[in-house]
Amino acid sequence: MKLFMPDVVYMDPKSLKYDVGKIVKAYLENQNITIIDSRTVKIEGKTPSENYAKAKKTVYITVNGQKKLRSCKPSADYQFALSSSCPGHCEYCYLQTTQGEKPFMKVFVNIEEILHVIQEHIDKHLPDITTFESGSITDPVGLEHLTGNLKRCIEFFGKSEKGRLRVITKYDHVDSFLNINHNKHTKFRFSINTRTVIDKFEHNTARFEERIEAARKIAGSGYPIGFIIAPIMMYDGWEKEYKELLNRLKCQLGDYDDTITFELIQHRFTATAKELILKRFPKTELDMNEQTRRLKWGPYGKFKHVYPKEKSNEIKDYISLLINDNFKNATIEYFT
Ligand code: SF4
Repeated sequence: MKLFMPDVVYMDPKSLKYDVGKIVKAYLENQNITIIDSRTVKIEGKTPSENYAKAKKTVYITVNGQKKLRSCKPSADYQFALSSSCPGHCEYCYLQTTQGEKPFMKVFVNIEEILHVIQEHIDKHLPDITTFESGSITDPVGLEHLTGNLKRCIEFFGKSEKGRLRVITKYDHVDSFLNINHNKHTKFRFSINTRTVIDKFEHNTARFEERIEAARKIAGSGYPIGFIIAPIMMYDGWEKEYKELLNRLKCQLGDYDDTITFELIQHRFTATAKELILKRFPKTELDMNEQTRRLKWGPYGKFKHVYPKEKSNEIKDYISLLINDNFKNATIEYFT
């Protein structure tokens, strides 16, 4: 897919003290992007959907001052951020309710300081291995072309004896990661779905074939890989399409010998998310009919609507069967 370009960039003056800040600025100027030097970001849409659309074309270049990293159990020991928010407009996005009315992107330029904080957390746990998730509040690949920071991170972890990195993405700009020394210390997970789910609900992200091609390239470069199939949805023809998905993955990754992990997440929504989604995407075709769902208590203190037990079992059994039929080297980590 085409690289994301913002309509407008706000530049925190602090960011120009860093080499990456200067490089980003030069890159954006070269692309004729409007740059405003400011410590704040202004977005003034007339409706929630306008605010959302404008925010998703606005980037704030700044620094990340976080010294103490948050836990990210069970997927990793800690999470850290090279950026926040992302250029995607996924209608169901799990970040919808946490990023406020104007989810503009922040891109952090102080990579050496971020890596220093990571190193401190690695040192704290020696001699154990410590794992770090880079995609909890962003899609690190979707914004990589602005800074090159993820590549720098992968190289850092490649040299690290006890640090391991996890990346999750819906984007396909992976070429800069292919010929670098990752030392198998970075695990790439691709968030993937059927053509229908991607085309209908995951706007401004890499398409079905693009993501599979990116996964093929990353696998070919020897990285540990995995897939998050989420959100799994039941709709007319869902069985056929998830079958196609697993067949395509098998076709592209058939000669990958290492373990491929799969994480399976059924579609769910909370009352707050539904309200917000309907404001941002008034014509959404997402199935958010509470009558056909079951209430499940979530870890964040909110009820979520999931498929009823017999349907979620059907999803779990069917997708697991497809995975095991196609991959002898698959591990299904969880279904939720
Ligand atoms: S790419 Fe990921 S983080 Fe971005 S909108 Fe889609 S689901 Fe949310």
